[in-house]
Amino acid sequence: ANTPLLTLNNGTTIPQLGFGVFKVDPAETTRIVTDALEVGYRHIDTAAIYGNEEGVGQAIASSGIPRDELFVTTKLWNDRQTDAENAFEESLGKLGLDYVDLYLIHWPTPQKDTFVQAWKSLEKIYASGRAKAIGVSNFLVPHLQKLLAETDIVPAVNQIELHPAHQQPEVTAFSHENGIEIEAWGPLGQGKYPLFETPEVASAAEAHGKTPAQVVIRWHLQTGNIVFPKSNSRSRMAENFDVFGFELTADEVAAISSLEREGRVSAHPDEVN
Ligand code: NAD
Repeated sequence: ANTPLLTLNNGTTIPQLGFGVFKVDPAETTRIVTDALEVGYRHIDTAAIYGNEEGVGQAIASSGIPRDELFVTTKLWNDRQTDAENAFEESLGKLGLDYVDLYLIHWPTPQKDTFVQAWKSLEKIYASGRAKAIGVSNFLVPHLQKLLAETDIVPAVNQIELHPAHQQPEVTAFSHENGIEIEAWGPLGQGKYPLFETPEVASAAEAHGKTPAQVVIRWHLQTGNIVFPKSNSRSRMAENFDVFGFELTADEVAAISSLEREGRVSAHPDEVN
């Protein structure tokens, strides 16, 4: 089955399931992204700070897949918020592309107070057609409120840490109320807590004859999140992509949602600079 497409607030579409390359070794990236494209992924999530945009670009170039069948996201690193136009052009050059599908401000870095300035550059990049959509990442409600009050374009997405123990209900509700889709990073909890062993996940996996990772990815898809789990292993890439032949029941979704416990596994957005 094909990956479902979600329509963003500017009318562009995004494959709801993609492949993320955080911590993918730059030297291995071309091989790993080539595997992901062969498995069937058409949405790749990278960032300038990952240092692997060139490898992503090489895999895309050698894949022969038409550009309009791919969705490529990259992100503006924190130390370039006052220099976004140049940073963006560097990313495009490394990717070997003439446009990206989605360009994000990686973190709000509220102590620097430069994300409004950065967003105004992203608005110009969007207007020029070099990014088909623009969005933010790790924005909490106050950051979104400031951005909405002081700029013109509503972000298409907010990419935030989101997995069953940390669902960020306030950010998610505020984003949705404003037409902003949620992208869930760390969708499997980055392997940092025993999510796969919880009875709620394990019993659904058992009931459907699927793996716990597949159940958690299904939970994201059924709750409306865009997700791009990361794996270096081709068999896990295939496992994570094979999630369209079954559906969790409403009770199973609710049971997994009940795992919320404000269990952030990575940095707090107010503390990243
Ligand atoms: P993830 O939740 O996708 O977890 C990845 C870990 O899960 C890896 O250690 C992998 O070995 C393991 N795993 C993957 N598939 C598995 C399977 N089927 N069975 C068992 N284990 C499995 O974490 P992530 O990579 O941090 O998040 C996904 C993507 O989100 C990243 O690659 C990146 O693109 C993005 N991201 C964005 C930000 C941000 O600040 N915007 C931060 C982190 C990640």
